[in-house]
Amino acid sequence: MRAGTELNLETCGIYSAEDRFTQHRYKADQAFELSSSKSPVGAYLDIDSIVQICLKNKIDCVHPGYGFLSENVNFARALEANGITFVGPTAENLATFGDKTSARELAVRAGVPVVEGTEDAVSTVEEARDAIENGVPGVHGPIGYPVIIKAAMGGGGRGMRVCLTKEELEANFSLASNEALTAFGDGRCFIEHYVDRPRHIEVQGIGDGTGNVVHLYDRDCSVQRRHQKCLETAPAMHLPEKTRQALFDDSLKLLKEAKYKNAGTVEFLVDQQGNHFFIEVNPRVQVEHTVTEEVTGIDIVQTQIKIAAGKTLEELGLRQESISTSGYAMQCRVTTEDPSEDFRPDTGRIETFRLPGGMGIRLDDGPGFPGASITPHYDSLLVKITAKARERREATKKLIRAIKEFRVRGVKTNKSFLLNVLHNDDFVNGAVDTSFIASNPGLVEKDVSRDRGGKILKFIAESTVNGPPPSLGATGGLPLASAVAPEPPKFGPRPLSTKKSLRDIYVNDGAQAFAKAVRERPGLLLMDTTWRDAHQSLLATRLRTKDIIPIAKPTAAALGDSLYSMECWGGATFDVSMRFLKECPWDRLALMREKVPDVPFQMLLRGANAVGYTSYPDNAVFEFCRLAQGHGMDVFRVFDSLNYVENMRLGIDAVGTAGGIVESAMSYTGDVADVNRGGYNLEYYLNLAAELESMGTHVLCIKDMAGLLTPQAARLLVGSLRENHPDLPIHVHTHDTSGCGVAAMIACAESGADAVDAAIDSMSGTTSQPSMGAIVASLKGSPLDTNIDLEKLGKLDDYWEGTREVYSQFESGQKSGSSSVYHHEIPGGQYTNMLFQSKQLGLGGQFALVKQRYEEANRLLGDIPKVTPSSKVCGDLAQFMVANDLTEADVREQASTLNFPSSVIEYFQGFLGVPPFGFPEPLRSQILEGRTIDGYDGKVAFEGRPGEEMEDFGESCW
Ligand code: ADP
Ligand code: MN
Repeated sequence: MRAGTELNLETCGIYSAEDRFTQHRYKADQAFELSSSKSPVGAYLDIDSIVQICLKNKIDCVHPGYGFLSENVNFARALEANGITFVGPTAENLATFGDKTSARELAVRAGVPVVEGTEDAVSTVEEARDAIENGVPGVHGPIGYPVIIKAAMGGGGRGMRVCLTKEELEANFSLASNEALTAFGDGRCFIEHYVDRPRHIEVQGIGDGTGNVVHLYDRDCSVQRRHQKCLETAPAMHLPEKTRQALFDDSLKLLKEAKYKNAGTVEFLVDQQGNHFFIEVNPRVQVEHTVTEEVTGIDIVQTQIKIAAGKTLEELGLRQESISTSGYAMQCRVTTEDPSEDFRPDTGRIETFRLPGGMGIRLDDGPGFPGASITPHYDSLLVKITAKARERREATKKLIRAIKEFRVRGVKTNKSFLLNVLHNDDFVNGAVDTSFIASNPGLVEKDVSRDRGGKILKFIAESTVNGPPPSLGATGGLPLASAVAPEPPKFGPRPLSTKKSLRDIYVNDGAQAFAKAVRERPGLLLMDTTWRDAHQSLLATRLRTKDIIPIAKPTAAALGDSLYSMECWGGATFDVSMRFLKECPWDRLALMREKVPDVPFQMLLRGANAVGYTSYPDNAVFEFCRLAQGHGMDVFRVFDSLNYVENMRLGIDAVGTAGGIVESAMSYTGDVADVNRGGYNLEYYLNLAAELESMGTHVLCIKDMAGLLTPQAARLLVGSLRENHPDLPIHVHTHDTSGCGVAAMIACAESGADAVDAAIDSMSGTTSQPSMGAIVASLKGSPLDTNIDLEKLGKLDDYWEGTREVYSQFESGQKSGSSSVYHHEIPGGQYTNMLFQSKQLGLGGQFALVKQRYEEANRLLGDIPKVTPSSKVCGDLAQFMVANDLTEADVREQASTLNFPSSVIEYFQGFLGVPPFGFPEPLRSQILEGRTIDGYDGKVAFEGRPGEEMEDFGESCW
């Protein structure tokens, strides 16, 4: 099209339906779509429809390019019959050279040497064997092994089989001919001697059909992969001048003999001794014609068009004496193939496409542009890059530079392979033979480009437009482009205290001594939850280690002496670190411990579930606790979601054995101050506390995971516990869901609690813990004074306020607390999760109903404490009820037929243990009866722990 435009011709393109977005369509002045009822390739081979397009649109000449119908006699004839000019050889030339046997015949007639081989196609393997072993008297001598079986009508490196022995010949002969029949519609094959490591040298010829022919010198196409050219140069290096001249002379002889018209290439093999043998003529312009154009300065395609228009060589000024070459040109074929996958064609959408340029670089581009999609339908050639320079080495350097400059992302290319070739010493020296690639397996070494830039840009673009991916737990919304974690404050070292720190006491004197020291401290102690429970409640536990470490020392300096502990590990942090943050939780623990050596660290241990979501073998839980304690963990808050002491016992024993501080937690639910609420009354908790103390508890914890503990309830519960257990430290955990957290924690402190949980102000409130600053300020000057400097606390707060912005897309979007929690009793973390899940399930508009059903689901389950994993059962049941439009009464009525979520069924099977007041009947029997799940017989519930042991922890266990 470029050649045509330069000749002031209007150009038209044709394209298949599959190619409707490719750019050759737009490079033409007009383009016409081919029949869409044909296959992608079939469309371009449909002679009739192309002729019709030409007639209809008054197209008077067709250049067939170098693929598809370019050598097809029938196409040339059909065009001529309709008065349309075919830009190419005469039909007779095509017929002669399309068939390699008739081409050989012509060469022999013209006195051009051919490779020893059969004169004609051979039809049986016996005939082939005879020709190879004995020859044909008067025609050719014995061909001798190795041989190559070639399809008469083959091309493009296909339809050839090398046979080293008689056995291989026998095995391959009929295969080759069947293959030829399918591929070229003609099964005829002939046999040639297989020349040992030849070079492939070809001569570009041009004739005008009068018998007048010229050559445009030679090209070296020896860099081949499976008989297909990869890289071509002009002229050939280290070719004896005598041989080169013989190639020219023989080419002209042959083309003259054929009265050749238009452009064509005469291909030869040159053996190690410098002998040359004709192999075939390609009666068309070739892929590698560019290198000849570059060294001769002759536009071959324009010349083709002019000859087709009737010009003679004489008229075009193409006399052999006036044609010369200057410099070196080298072309490589960049394809969309993956060298490390055996050059398998790759497909996909091109995301980045930056072409090279500059002096000496010529590009003949095809289907590539940013956004182009590379289909599997056609040849994988993407761009031809041709370099031209005065010396071969310079041309090589330009080509290397251009390939490096060329950027393609989205589809794999053979660029790395081409670079390997261009860097190869043998190649650079210029005389490699056709065995070069096969004998240098290192050339196909894997592409090292990892597209890091592209991946990062894609991530940034994606999250700028759509926010961080929900797969990472983002809850929506756009990031603040300006958000960065602020500089942490600098407080200098803590003044040396004469008092021993709580951690020193624990490390030196053990857990009992720690408990005693806690009881004896005058003011209220705090547990800072900012590093774990606060961000779990607010940011889905997405806080990274890199944002904790900078504030670690300042936190210890400002709060250290007033802290019972810092909750910084365990529970969901373990899981999230590995699944989403791709961090090692053990490294996080080690780093934090390094920065904060003297404040106790605390973690959450879900009894037999440890820090996971399923029951682990007993010895795994023991080993985990041993390792955690050994890596600097001090206080272990052990709990069970159903307050099922059998499950807690394992955790308590494991922590005790490891030498850790056992903080046994009672999950708090209901309202202990409400005599009508039933179940969870004072007696229930006092009994539970007594049982836990007897099991080896160092510290008793009230785990108020939904924030239901009112000040009134706190006074009653903590006051009574204090009376019953005068020496046992009491630690209270709550969530500020209703907004009552500060008041409740002060009530706890006043009633005898030793420590309460709080979060740095900007990470506090709503589903998180109550504000540390508010508690500190409220107790200032009282006997319970925490001794925390509010100004320093403010500086920590500044850090977290800024850092929270960085995680804004992981916020739940909840704007205020809600006292409805006293009805639905949904724990803080779950509230946010359910809001998110409900949106995903399409129940977003019905969240009020979800909360109501949650309350009902709790009753159906037998009124249970709700915390992971029992809270999940309750949530699943609530969402199931909303989705299926069921009320509490409906569930009771239809229990035996409903298709409950598996978590609900497992709950009733007893997989979580036994709920405080037993399973509700008859509901449980109705649900389980007749249901066979995983070998469960539907009757006997699994209650309690199996006490399994794991045999070998292996390397990967932790
Ligand atoms: P195509 O029509 O597929 O281009 P060719 O006959 O031109 O087939 O051969 C292509 C390549 O196959 C050559 O460049 C050479 O590498 C190899 N080849 C063909 N014939 C022989 C032979 N007789 N001996 C050694 N190699 C050969
Ligand atoms: Mn060839």
